[in-house]
Amino acid sequence: MKLTRLRLVGFKSFVEATDFLIEPGLTGVVGPNGCGKSNLVEALRWVMGESSYKSLRASGMDDVIFAGSGNRAARNTAEVALLVDNRDRTAPAAFNDADQLDVSRRIERESGSTYRVNGKEVRARDVQLLFADAATGARSPAMVRQGMIGEIIAAKPQARRRILEDAAGIAGLHSRRHEAELR
Ligand code: ATP
Ligand code: MG
Repeated sequence: MKLTRLRLVGFKSFVEATDFLIEPGLTGVVGPNGCGKSNLVEALRWVMGESSYKSLRASGMDDVIFAGSGNRAARNTAEVALLVDNRDRTAPAAFNDADQLDVSRRIERESGSTYRVNGKEVRARDVQLLFADAATGARSPAMVRQGMIGEIIAAKPQARRRILEDAAGIAGLHSRRHEAELR
């Protein structure tokens, strides 16, 4: 699975529809303080199913919606869509029949989020598992937040094991086993 395009509409400071094409190789995002670099990475985690608004520097989930500025009115919805190239067929079985996955999350003020994969509505859980298996999820060590290196060094052995399992791509398995045991 390869991420090829991130589209933001009304997410945090990205009020106008904005497309980021992710070309093969290394991508750098540069810009002055406050231009939205961190918002971009947060959009990526959000569409992958991030459920903690605190880790998105927000005081409620609706805070990810463009809140208005100078001469622009606030919006009532935000949407982020992530295009995933699945030609290598590494997506989980449930989604593995398509060459390309269009994963999107949309939030409406006071009504929560809806997720879609290729137009079909799915649960947050489905999207989280889709990326957990690929070791790229919202909480995965593939996304190195500020302060995370220090956390890994200071972590207790069990927590460190979870990080290694995430990196090895078996976090989704644990999640599914836990769900199966609850049934
Ligand atoms: P730095 O270089 O300082 O890390 P950055 O490029 O990472 O900066 P961000 O933190 O991504 O910048 O962007 C911060 C900007 O996003 C602020 O100007 C803030 O007002 C704006 N912002 C955050 N949430 C919203 C929102 N809901 N509506 C409108 N603007 C928002
Ligand atoms: Mg930043």
